[in-house]
Amino acid sequence: MKNIVLYPGSFDPLTNGHKDIIERAADVFDEVIVAIGVNSNKAALFSLEQRVEMAESVFAKEDNIQVTAFDALSTDFALECGANIILRGLRTGIDFAAEFQLDWMNQRLAPELETLFMTPSEEVAGISSTLVKEVAKYGGDYEQFVPAVVAQALEDAFA
Ligand code: ADP
Repeated sequence: MKNIVLYPGSFDPLTNGHKDIIERAADVFDEVIVAIGVNSNKAALFSLEQRVEMAESVFAKEDNIQVTAFDALSTDFALECGANIILRGLRTGIDFAAEFQLDWMNQRLAPELETLFMTPSEEVAGISSTLVKEVAKYGGDYEQFVPAVVAQALEDAFA
């Protein structure tokens, strides 16, 4: 059986933290699907199309990493894609509290799916999309935290 992983999130924008998780997951699983969705609790800086385009260009050369948009429950979308695993990243205790509840709910919605968590590599552990946007907005050095294509988009957004 193939292990197909769905990694859902808002990725507004994709950071080196996300990239670290995605590439390490692609080393151990057969396929990783980066599913970019709308988070109704957060106002997005980039459109869904822009977020998908940026992620697609970052992973263009990786055969087992796909990028797609979605507007559904992660569990429904995972099953639709043929994924058997949902992947999430865990940085802090705050992430843990939120993810624990989400996993609890997802287990009830789709018991056939397994949710797995990865912690970030040490160098990217403190990166969040929200903080990167804040740094970019006020002219700090955000380029070290994001892929080049995202750095360019941030420069354009805050020009
Ligand atoms: P969401 O809005 O669903 O939280 P995000 O795009 O913010 O989506 O994040 C997607 C996933 O990536 C989440 O599981 C989040 O915890 C994880 N993540 C974000 N930044 C990092 C990072 N620096 N290291 C590890 N995981 C991360």
